[in-house]
Amino acid sequence: MLLSVIVPCYNEEENVPIFYGEMMKNSAFLEKEGLELEIIYIDDGSRDRTAEEVKKLHEKDERVHLVSFSRNFGKEAGIYAGFQKAKGDYVVMMDADLQDPPSLLPEMFSYIKQGYDSVATRRVSRKGEPPVRSFFARMFYRIMNKISKAEIVDGARDYRLMTRQVVDAILSMCEYNRFTKGIFGWVGYRTKWLEYENVERAHGETKWSFWKLFLYSLDGITAFSTVPLAISSVMGVLLCAAAFVAIIGLIIKNLIYHDPTPGWPSMVCIILLVSGVQLFCVGILGQYLAKTYLEVKRRPIYLVKEEL
Ligand code: UDP
Ligand code: MG
Repeated sequence: MLLSVIVPCYNEEENVPIFYGEMMKNSAFLEKEGLELEIIYIDDGSRDRTAEEVKKLHEKDERVHLVSFSRNFGKEAGIYAGFQKAKGDYVVMMDADLQDPPSLLPEMFSYIKQGYDSVATRRVSRKGEPPVRSFFARMFYRIMNKISKAEIVDGARDYRLMTRQVVDAILSMCEYNRFTKGIFGWVGYRTKWLEYENVERAHGETKWSFWKLFLYSLDGITAFSTVPLAISSVMGVLLCAAAFVAIIGLIIKNLIYHDPTPGWPSMVCIILLVSGVQLFCVGILGQYLAKTYLEVKRRPIYLVKEEL
């Protein structure tokens, strides 16, 4: 039996060897379970010496593999590449910055043996995170779970161990706009959730700015829900109904009281409001159209420069 560890890396030169070291420290359970190991580092177009560091490890230990992208394609592409390259009967994906502690692996594996198809982790605290970010993150999860069929757990990390069956299910979803958290929720299977305290990054800085996260959340919503489209239709119907009632009211007022309605300013406000709503709805439509456009082009999800 083989366990594949997928590690997406973007500018993680310090963390690559540290991660390997930690992994080795925690690999005692592998022997006990009769598991072989392979570690697949995905170098997501790093500008530092990440690829060189992985190559050094590969020379020492041929269980270490490298997939190097031609440019930065994003973590989602990295995960997909890892899944494609992984030969393991079990696959786990972990961040290079040791925020996903390898010490949890034995426990995770014990649940797989109990018959779970996948063991996922979530952090219970958001310690060390700006409060504004936590607030928006919470809101995103709440909205997302209301409007989408894919169950997405608050605080879920991408640290997951899964069986070959789940990996193949995920590989069969070859969409271009990959929102991994949603994909996991969508494929289903029996999932065990483990909780742990947030761990601070070992070296370097997070690659996610607030703005990047915001755009990512919009990607998630458009990828796994069409409710925004329905909202814009409903909004249109409601506005039409309101206008209809107002028109009838005005006609009656005019016929009975012969009172031509004054009020240009209110008219301008209404026009502004309605055209705003219209643009907003066209915008929503545009979001879906853009995603469809990218999807139908069928571009590859990533391009490989080097592979070991
Ligand atoms: N990462 C990647 N490509 C990117 C951004 C990030 O492969 O474009 C990797 C990064 O090297 C790390 C993991 O994804 O191993 C998580 O990134 P990060 O620690 O910056 O995110 P956070 O833990 O703050 O959510
Ligand atoms: Mg991190």
